[in-house]
Amino acid sequence: MPPAPRRKKGEGQWALGYFTPLNPNEQFKKDDDGLNVRRRVLDVYAQRGFDAIDPQDLRGRLRWWGLYTQRRPGIPGGQTAVLEPHELDDEYFMLRVRVDGGQLSLAQLRAIAEVSTAYGRDTADVTDRQNIQLHWIRIEDVPAIWQRLEAVGLTTEEACGDTPRVILGSPVAGVAADEILDGTPAVEEIKRRFIGDPAFSNLPRKFKTAISGSPRQDVAHEVNDVSFVGVVHPEHGPGFDVWVGGGLSTNPRIAERLGVWVPIEEVPDVWAGVCSIFRDYGYRRLRNRARLKFLMADWGAEKFRQVLEDEYLSRKLVDGPAPVPPPPHERDHIGVHQQRDGHYYIGVAPRTGRVSGAILSKVADLAASVGSDRVRLTAQQHLLVLDVPLEKVEPLVAALEALDLQARPSVFRRGTMACTGIEYCKLAIVETKGRASALMDELERRLPAFDQPLSVHLNGCPNSCARIQTADIGLKGMVVQGPDGEHEDGFQVHLGGGLGAHAGFGRKLRGLKVSAAELPDYIERVATRFDAQRSDGEAFAA
Ligand code: SF4
Repeated sequence: MPPAPRRKKGEGQWALGYFTPLNPNEQFKKDDDGLNVRRRVLDVYAQRGFDAIDPQDLRGRLRWWGLYTQRRPGIPGGQTAVLEPHELDDEYFMLRVRVDGGQLSLAQLRAIAEVSTAYGRDTADVTDRQNIQLHWIRIEDVPAIWQRLEAVGLTTEEACGDTPRVILGSPVAGVAADEILDGTPAVEEIKRRFIGDPAFSNLPRKFKTAISGSPRQDVAHEVNDVSFVGVVHPEHGPGFDVWVGGGLSTNPRIAERLGVWVPIEEVPDVWAGVCSIFRDYGYRRLRNRARLKFLMADWGAEKFRQVLEDEYLSRKLVDGPAPVPPPPHERDHIGVHQQRDGHYYIGVAPRTGRVSGAILSKVADLAASVGSDRVRLTAQQHLLVLDVPLEKVEPLVAALEALDLQARPSVFRRGTMACTGIEYCKLAIVETKGRASALMDELERRLPAFDQPLSVHLNGCPNSCARIQTADIGLKGMVVQGPDGEHEDGFQVHLGGGLGAHAGFGRKLRGLKVSAAELPDYIERVATRFDAQRSDGEAFAA
């Protein structure tokens, strides 16, 4: 008798009846909701200390509250893949504070600054997802930190984990003179209704959202799981075009338009529909296929829209126009810009987002001194001070410059981003932030007259926290072989990536790897050659 056909394991999609956990991550999520770890932090771990933390909480559920263990100092990048997780863990944590829409009041900025100086050895990094990350956090201090942050309306809830992460928003929402519409009410409503809702606290993996009504399309909407991009419908007026299924990392994919127009009041429901499809139909068997982009790749935009309309919204959506991509390299808000109310906002570039509690505190003092109460973070690791009166603009520019926050940076400072890297990240192979900082100094020294926009993004590993595939020059950290066969830090080069009109991923040239020491020479060569050969108006990625 022939053997009975084996039942196909499937991809672990709940909507198809596959509820049995198919990997350890799915198991721990089923065992207990990640959100519940808060109670244990408050009642047990903060009192008993690091060694009392349950391993499933330590490397799993604590993420639901923005806590990752840091990399133990001194472990070389070559060891990353061979050591067990517990050998890489330090007893300190990175704590991610979500800043939805990138919007901070000065009271919130001061709270983060105080937490940084009191509990985080004065560390603070502005990330390219508009979060602020603190380091050196002890579990014993977390209750006091949460109390301080939550008193001003901030949270670390679902800042990490298989959850709806921070919602990106245009940093100039509500103030920009050229705005199509202000997405802030949608950001706030999604956060109010769905962040911390157990209905969305067990997704197949992370779920990234971006909402921008700016014609500059300043939230990298092409590489988020779901994005709402400002457009004007010829009949219905301003609203949002919906993009689904973008993402980077090892299988990068540009999001696809569903071809629908959504008014702002319907954004939260459409968001919930898309997130529900991910929860119910998303692949849960293999972690490396558990992002929404893989489902989108299999379904396509037409089927996705149909399932969204028929199964989740019970109505048809309105067809809508595509947004017009802005010119390349006009997506950041660096410099001095007039707001629509006549005041100005000033966009400054820290070094790859790295600041400190002390600097954030000084920024708050400076903003207050010119009558501003609002600071914004950008998806390019930059920082904005809003509502500056004309007569205070230049004094404030100078005062920020004195903090090494430049409103008129070189193209190298402006376009360089770096991920956390080996300093704190357990997945890293090489150091990134310090290297990027030294690199921009060196390029400024060598090419003082170079004025073409140029994005240089550095990652410490094959993940793409600094969006290397969408940079003019993307650098993926790896171990390379030196001239004498010895192993050293280096980077795989991706050339000519970008977003907007020329959205696409940089070409990974076979064998094009540079050692860390060669980086300044290599980038100088590429930049100089491009400058000499480009035609008028040609951007790097064109
Ligand atoms: Fe860590 Fe890699 Fe992300 Fe950098 S890209 S922060 S090294 S996971």
